[in-house]
Amino acid sequence: MSHNKPAIAVHKFSSCDGCQLALLNLGESLLTLSSMVDILHFAEAGPVDENAKVDIAIIEGSISTTDDIERINRIRENSTLVMTIGACATAGGLQALRNMANTQQWIADIYANPAVIKSLEKSTAIKKHIKVDLELWGCPVSSRQIVSAIRALLFGVLPEEQNDKVCMECKRRQIVCVMVAKNEPCMGPVTRTGCGALCPSVGRDCYGCYGPAENPNTQAMANRLEGLGLVKDEVARRFLFINSGAEAFHRQGVRSREAE
Ligand code: SF4
Ligand code: SF4
Repeated sequence: MSHNKPAIAVHKFSSCDGCQLALLNLGESLLTLSSMVDILHFAEAGPVDENAKVDIAIIEGSISTTDDIERINRIRENSTLVMTIGACATAGGLQALRNMANTQQWIADIYANPAVIKSLEKSTAIKKHIKVDLELWGCPVSSRQIVSAIRALLFGVLPEEQNDKVCMECKRRQIVCVMVAKNEPCMGPVTRTGCGALCPSVGRDCYGCYGPAENPNTQAMANRLEGLGLVKDEVARRFLFINSGAEAFHRQGVRSREAE
């Protein structure tokens, strides 16, 4: 590539912009980062060049329209590495809840002029459409994780995946377990870390926004949630929420719902 510094683009698909805000919220670190790289496309921050050829493309959002499919393939062709950030890009996001409903019926119920809505039947993760080199989960993603991932990629290293459980983070930080101490229906035993056990650190239960951890025992988690007094439909909703499109959560959510 003709740039002196590595080039980066930040692209948005179907999403709330929260993960791009996590990037903007880096403040001084973003200024440091921008001295190390050329940011060629980041519409929310200013630069716009959607077809720029870059070293790293950072993708927020899920694939929801036919135009999205064409655009994500073009981005893949223009990028050496592709990194997806956040629950929408990694698992389809909250909007993937429609994958379990009748999309056309929802469109007819919600929009005054349904004919102009070009949604696909399903909202899907970026990796369902193109090769993805690195995924950062979370709703929103952690700013600290983004910056350390970009730094590692700039040095030619693929960062190690952080996929152990939020419970491990609680232990490392000596946070009192809200499930043991307060009987809260915490999803930490099956959710991947990365947030620093944010919710338990302020005394509330984890609701699984970082998606499934490695080897999650979702059935044991479901049994425990029932033991805490949740009915099967409530258990299903704990799994079929922000990361309903993530396979392990989807499978358990459907299993709990069907067992109702
Ligand atoms: S508070 Fe939640 S995440 Fe932390 S140890 Fe307890 S169950 Fe695990
Ligand atoms: S504790 Fe759970 S719900 Fe809270 S930020 Fe972390 S992963 Fe998300």
